[in-house]
Amino acid sequence: LSILHFNDVYEITERKKEPVGGAARFASLMKRNIYDITKQTGERPLVVFSGDCLNPSTLSCATQGRHMIEVLDTLEVDVAVFGNHEFDFGVEHAAKCIERMTSTWLLGNVIDKLTQQNLGGGMTKHIIKRNNGLKIGLLGLVEEEWLDTLATVNREDLEFQDYVERGREVAAELRADGADLVIALTHMRWPNDIRLARMVPDIDIILGGHDHEYGVKEIDECLIIKSGSDFRNLSSVDLFIRNDGCVDVKISRYDVTREVEEDPYMLKIVERYTSVLEKSLDHCIGVVNTSLDGRFKMVRSRETNLGNFVADIMASVTRADVVLINSGTFRSDGVHSCGNFRLHDLMTILPINDCVVTIVVTGKQLLEALENGVSLVPKYEGRFPQVSGVTFGFNPGAPPGSRIVRDTLMVQGNPLDPTREYTMATKAYVARGKDGYTCLSKCRILTDPDSGPLLSTVVRNH
Ligand SMILES: [Zn+2]
Repeated sequence: LSILHFNDVYEITERKKEPVGGAARFASLMKRNIYDITKQTGERPLVVFSGDCLNPSTLSCATQGRHMIEVLDTLEVDVAVFGNHEFDFGVEHAAKCIERMTSTWLLGNVIDKLTQQNLGGGMTKHIIKRNNGLKIGLLGLVEEEWLDTLATVNREDLEFQDYVERGREVAAELRADGADLVIALTHMRWPNDIRLARMVPDIDIILGGHDHEYGVKEIDECLIIKSGSDFRNLSSVDLFIRNDGCVDVKISRYDVTREVEEDPYMLKIVERYTSVLEKSLDHCIGVVNTSLDGRFKMVRSRETNLGNFVADIMASVTRADVVLINSGTFRSDGVHSCGNFRLHDLMTILPINDCVVTIVVTGKQLLEALENGVSLVPKYEGRFPQVSGVTFGFNPGAPPGSRIVRDTLMVQGNPLDPTREYTMATKAYVARGKDGYTCLSKCRILTDPDSGPLLSTVVRNH
């Protein structure tokens, strides 16, 4: 059995830096692998995707991710698991999109309390029977943390089932159904995938997403593979199942570089979707005199000049005492070189349609918010704060909730007063308590969260 795996795809166009990625080059790599494997083994490989495709991207501002239906279908995806960003435009929208795709979508451990069904209409399990008699069982699992990131769903409307418990149940069901091999498609962070591998011996392979860096680990004889992001990487997992039941595995990593030719069919799709948009996006909206750092591993673990730039603009527009935004706001995962700054750069950095709001916080709430922001370091979580008007240091080795080094915490150059009220500019997403910022969800809102300016618009106007 051969499996082709990828995850977390946002931009369908390629970037400048190698590996350039892009759906067109990725498609030819995929098609060549499908062709070669089918020729060699007499059976088509299984194509699986581990979530996040409908948003955020430059194009999805216009299409709400609908363009990915055609893209994933062209890539012949068989089975997929929901990513958190599938729900950025609402549960119903996600359900409609995946219904229109030819692939089977899994999500087995989050129940929509209103319908008592799996969120977004995901399947709990799926069995594929191969021509050679092999039965492959698949299940889809996610972590609890990402429920806090869902912008359009109330946490209270969801019932989360622990992925280990649920994984154990469903894997056992799949075995009872005769599965020779059990594969979990997951959309969660590394430590959770490792926990799943340790605790559920019935799962043979975990094909994961959510983390954007390529990685392979073997934990207690369970293989975990994450295949990068953004059509830049593809994994081919070749399994040789011996008569004694033992499995030999060969993993091949493919990077989508300029060497990989573009698939003409996919290229047409990409060009069709981007041509209209591109004309407006090429417009230069300013000049930057230094390169701006938006790399995930930087912006999600420390202060960066891109984070400061955007937070400072928010401060000047709102005149708030402090600005705090979650670094998940910054989507470009790259360094933007100095020179002309085009609308395209802005839309790559800030593709999520979210409003700027001003709220009133006490010093105590501000401290709580910052503690939440640094609570998951060293995981590259989107909740990590980028700020303006406030300075602080933190100790990542201290227990979550007491990591901020108190005497370093200054607001406008003065020590934080826990009882004082401060005005804080943030995004509606954070003010709603998302990304774990629940301490802010009850704060008084000074501006209308539904009609406030879009963050990207605020930056563009600046
Ligand atoms: Zn994700």
